[in-house]
Amino acid sequence: MTRIVLATHNAHKVAELQGIVSRVRPDIEVIGYDGPEPVEDGTTFAENALVKARAATAHTGLVALADDSGVCVDVLGGSPGVFSAYWAGHAKDDAANLALLLDQLSDLTRPEDRAAHYTSVIALVTPDGAEHTVEGVWPGRLATAPRGEGGFGYDPIFVPEGSDRTAAEFMAAEKNAVSHRSRALEALVPLLETL
Ligand code: IMP
Repeated sequence: MTRIVLATHNAHKVAELQGIVSRVRPDIEVIGYDGPEPVEDGTTFAENALVKARAATAHTGLVALADDSGVCVDVLGGSPGVFSAYWAGHAKDDAANLALLLDQLSDLTRPEDRAAHYTSVIALVTPDGAEHTVEGVWPGRLATAPRGEGGFGYDPIFVPEGSDRTAAEFMAAEKNAVSHRSRALEALVPLLETL
């Protein structure tokens, strides 16, 4: 059994990745990472994902994966982007982040002016120094008021393309089948096959 480490404390993310990995490489076991967390000081999702994956491979000696994600709003030039988790301050308060973003867009009421997408980048780093990144994008727009109880973060105001519901009104499995994260995981499959 080959082990790879995912740089997260989140057991759900480990299980989600194990599900994808097992389809193509049943011989690979995904484990979580409980070592020191590096400062995420990159200006792109890829840089931050690489920083986390490099730290995990250095600490464990295993092939490491790490993800970084956020919501990008067209009229804000792609912000909040890498600052999504603490858009309203370092408290990392989901409700405050969402409220601030809604306020910043309050003058724009036409759906076409509220285009946005979620992005997820997954980095893969091997102990011998090889580095790869893959990306998944989930396009949509932002609603003018929050709706729905599911998901997390900006989901109550994110309306995926082709839907009139917010991501918080999706069933968890429905979101997981089409989200930016699942698209990035699918893009990872060819890399997993080479391990
Ligand atoms: P992380 O990469 O999982 O740490 O997520 C960074 C931030 O991006 C989160 O705190 C959320 O604000 C936002 N974000 C990323 N993915 C999602 C999502 O699927 N739904 C809602 N917000 C998300």
